[in-house]
Amino acid sequence: MYLRPTTIDEAIDALANQGGRILAGGTDFFPAQGEQPIAGAVLDISAIGALKGIAIGPDEIRIGACTTWSEIVAADLPPAFDALKAAARDVGGWQIQNLGTVAGNLCNASPAADGVPPLLALDAAVELAGRAGTRLLPLDQFILGPRRTALGPDEIMVAIRVPRRFEQARSRFVKLGARRYLVISIVMVAAHLALDEHGRVADARVAVGSCSAVACRLRALEAALVGADAGAGLARLILPEHLHPLRPIDDVRATALYRLDAARTLIGRALEACLPETTHA
Ligand SMILES: Cc1cc2nc3c(=O)[nH]c(=O)nc-3n(C[C@H](O)[C@H](O)[C@H](O)COP(=O)(O)OP(=O)(O)OC[C@H]3O[C@@H](n4cnc5c(N)ncnc54)[C@H](O)[C@@H]3O)c2cc1C
Repeated sequence: MYLRPTTIDEAIDALANQGGRILAGGTDFFPAQGEQPIAGAVLDISAIGALKGIAIGPDEIRIGACTTWSEIVAADLPPAFDALKAAARDVGGWQIQNLGTVAGNLCNASPAADGVPPLLALDAAVELAGRAGTRLLPLDQFILGPRRTALGPDEIMVAIRVPRRFEQARSRFVKLGARRYLVISIVMVAAHLALDEHGRVADARVAVGSCSAVACRLRALEAALVGADAGAGLARLILPEHLHPLRPIDDVRATALYRLDAARTLIGRALEACLPETTHA
């Protein structure tokens, strides 16, 4: 059965009544299906107007679940979103970016999902709607493991919400793959940096993906960066213990050792790229 509701309520009712799988852009859904015929109901949410668009409110920016990567790239967003925009430009090619949605990337819960590190660094939360109402969950509590999320059986992700308090921070996204384009990440890093008037780090956020079952923030590194003189260089402050949350694995794309080494290099590059030209050592 193929259903294409036009409202969130219809979609929730359909999920609660007959279950089924949610389809947004389909760019993860169909490749995962492979040659198998589709069993059970498919709930296509792409016609639900309320899931589209980006709203800038006084305290937060709300990204509708069906916002595509192309729409993220085209949106007028503050500097803290530059890392998310850069990640958007790296998701597949234009065709994928025109169809693939931010929420689909999060709900698919791949350890290599490029959208996750920039959104973790933005302190994003996800808004989930179901029969019992709407709940808000920090992104780091939503993705539980590879292909595992906290989404309930009758729930739909309706939006991603980002607080505006750090929106003027500079941000960068750096992705390493086996080639430049159309590639699954070996390591990717999102860094956000705010400096005070003396050129010292006032706030730092660093998130790394493809180096653990779920992308994660490096909180010890972030704490070590606060107060540092940016002009003296920041990459030198990255210590091996700051990388302890990372648990890379050996796979067809890279060894764990290579990933760890690459992560350290990429974090340094991302942090330095966040600095204004005048600050460089
Ligand atoms: C050629 C190619 C290249 C790619 N390159 C990259 C890349 O470089 N980086 C990267 O990160 N990804 C990449 N992808 C993966 C994919 O494009 C992205 O993850 C995309 O954002 C998925 O969004 P979608 O709307 O297509 O999700 P769909 O395929 O429609 O759905 C994905 C999963 O999320 C669920 N879902 C979707 N929306 C919701 C919702 N609102 N609420 C609840 N559940 C939902 C679906 O049920 C499904 O399980 C690539 C895919 C292809 C085919």
